[in-house]
Amino acid sequence: MALKTDLYIDGKWVKGSKTVPVRDPSDDSVIAEIQVATEKECDAAVDAAYRAFPEWAKTAPRFRAEILRKAFEIMIAEADSLAEIVSRENGKVLSDAKGEILYAAEFFRWFSEEIVRVQGDFRKSPSGDKRIVVTHQPIGVSLLITPWNFPAGMATRKIGPAIGAGCTVILKPAIETPLTALAIVEILERAGLPKGVVNVVMPTPAGPMVSRMLHDPRVMNLSFTGSTEVGRVLLKEASDRVIRCSMELGGNAPFVVLDDANVDEAVKGLMIAKMRNGGAACTAANRIYVAKKIASEFTTKFAKAMSELRMAPGREPGAQLGASVSKKERDKIADLVSASVKGGAKVETGGVLPEGPGAFYPPTVLSVAKDNEILKHEVFGPVAPIVTFDSDEEAIKLANDSDFGLISYVYSGELGRAIRVSEAIDSGMVAINRGVISDPAAPFGGNKQSGLGREGGFDGIHEFLQTKYIGVEI
Ligand code: NAD
Repeated sequence: MALKTDLYIDGKWVKGSKTVPVRDPSDDSVIAEIQVATEKECDAAVDAAYRAFPEWAKTAPRFRAEILRKAFEIMIAEADSLAEIVSRENGKVLSDAKGEILYAAEFFRWFSEEIVRVQGDFRKSPSGDKRIVVTHQPIGVSLLITPWNFPAGMATRKIGPAIGAGCTVILKPAIETPLTALAIVEILERAGLPKGVVNVVMPTPAGPMVSRMLHDPRVMNLSFTGSTEVGRVLLKEASDRVIRCSMELGGNAPFVVLDDANVDEAVKGLMIAKMRNGGAACTAANRIYVAKKIASEFTTKFAKAMSELRMAPGREPGAQLGASVSKKERDKIADLVSASVKGGAKVETGGVLPEGPGAFYPPTVLSVAKDNEILKHEVFGPVAPIVTFDSDEEAIKLANDSDFGLISYVYSGELGRAIRVSEAIDSGMVAINRGVISDPAAPFGGNKQSGLGREGGFDGIHEFLQTKYIGVEI
């Protein structure tokens, strides 16, 4: 597959003002030079989306559904070459990249099925004086901003429901990983998407151009996935025009292993919850709370499993942990581990920067005290700090001791006990006896400072629809 590197505006691949390189973080080589959007191209993208909106909003749901379905089928047929692009620009291993493409494609299929089933309401008012009609309409031009850690999944999780609902969009992918998003948009083009419905711009720095688009009176909606820090800035910006916002922000997931858990199953689950995507996931288990009674056995087995992982460039056969997206991100991980060790953490395995090129950080397990600094941060890498606890009540208290509330994990041999603990933990999602629960058919999203709104499931489409009530005299 030839790499797309241009901006995509009004159905055309166009140049920007200059180019910047996209690098393979496993050896720092330049994969491609991509076009950078300035004011002119960002304005043109808003123009195109605004012009396309009235016609697109009027199309039959089945028409939109079939374009999404076709795009799903192309993504599945071309999954291997798409995974190669993801792995090259992001650094993750090929198996993770392939898994991401299948997950990403599923959002197109799910929303192609959802959009033909959006329900309204027709009923008599309680007093009998009128009929209450409730319908749902597309919000309008939507700005979609995605991070680098899942360059395919985060794009389709927004594009699918947005265009399915009848909105038109401007997608701004992360500057580190734009090639995957451009490849997916090219697939939508092949699937028959009319011009102007999806536009892609890559401004850098992102801030001024995103602010400009958010202040454009034609932009009605913002769907952002990224850090809580940037999310807060964008919520403030969006408040100037009271734009609807969906925010999928940072996480710092607790992984709670109760004293009756099957230790081997919990270790297996944690290997997935921590190491999927090399630990660079908002859902990554970051604070591992283990009951004192089983902590020694659990830590030994988990550290052994982590130390056996093969760290290598993502496309090397047998690679299980690839590079972080950049040296800057890798150094953030290394700094957090150093500070944790200074604060008393015991290194069970890993913790040493490898020699040689590439943004690699090794699988690392730490035993830490409850107040170790590392527990306050979202570590976006293969680092697992373990803390012990005495009772379920203490585990709940520790799990809730965070500004984040995206996802939690609970392992127990008794389902009722696991559910009681799950209900007491303040997070938008809880995984019981599983290391991964992300599913396009389920509502994904967080409580507290992990975000606003839900993506996927039955809720996802409503992030791009607004409810209209029509009262009818009868
Ligand atoms: P980031 O916040 O730095 O960047 C996200 C996007 O925002 C990128 O496209 C970036 O270019 C853009 N951006 C950065 N600064 C901006 C500004 N001032 N104005 C406008 N746009 C700006 O996040 P990241 O480092 O790319 O991704 C990692 C973060 O994303 C983590 O915190 C992770 O938890 C979070 N994340 C959350 C979810 C979720 O569903 N909750 C999913 C994936 C990642």
